[in-house]
Amino acid sequence: MWRLLPTISRPLGRVAILDIDTHHGNGTQSIFYKRSDVHFVSVHGDPNVLFPFYAGYTHERGEGEGAGYNLNLPLPLKSEDPAWLAAISEGMTSITNYAPSALLVSLGFDPFKGDPSSDLAVSTEGFRAAGERIGAYRGPVVLVQEGGYLVDKLGENLNAFLDGFMRARNAPAR
Ligand SMILES: [Zn+2]
Repeated sequence: MWRLLPTISRPLGRVAILDIDTHHGNGTQSIFYKRSDVHFVSVHGDPNVLFPFYAGYTHERGEGEGAGYNLNLPLPLKSEDPAWLAAISEGMTSITNYAPSALLVSLGFDPFKGDPSSDLAVSTEGFRAAGERIGAYRGPVVLVQEGGYLVDKLGENLNAFLDGFMRARNAPAR
């Protein structure tokens, strides 16, 4: 019914990755840490108390050519929708300023308040609002679903996110 990414037959150039899984995107950060052509942003629970513990802190901003292109936005325990959405908005502002050719979203649903592997407390409506914020980005977007499989509400949360996302995608450009 809808296709988000056209067939790519040429190099994309600069790409942004937004990771909203409740756990810091330590693998992705490590792959792109020294590169300036990929801007990585992760919104996650405080790594002092949540996996992966050794990474995900604000001072990790990238290295060498990648300096300044890694952005970690950790949140305190039990953060709810307002704090989580504010961090996503901050991440999207950074991504918009970077002006990538495409955006990839590591779309974890484990920030959900009922998820036993999370220390955040995001609601179903929070996912809808996140979808709206991310869907307002005006380039190609790839959504890759990640964590959040441990709760019955996963389908509802995914539907809420996609509803907000598609509503923003279909809205006239601001
Ligand atoms: Zn996770």
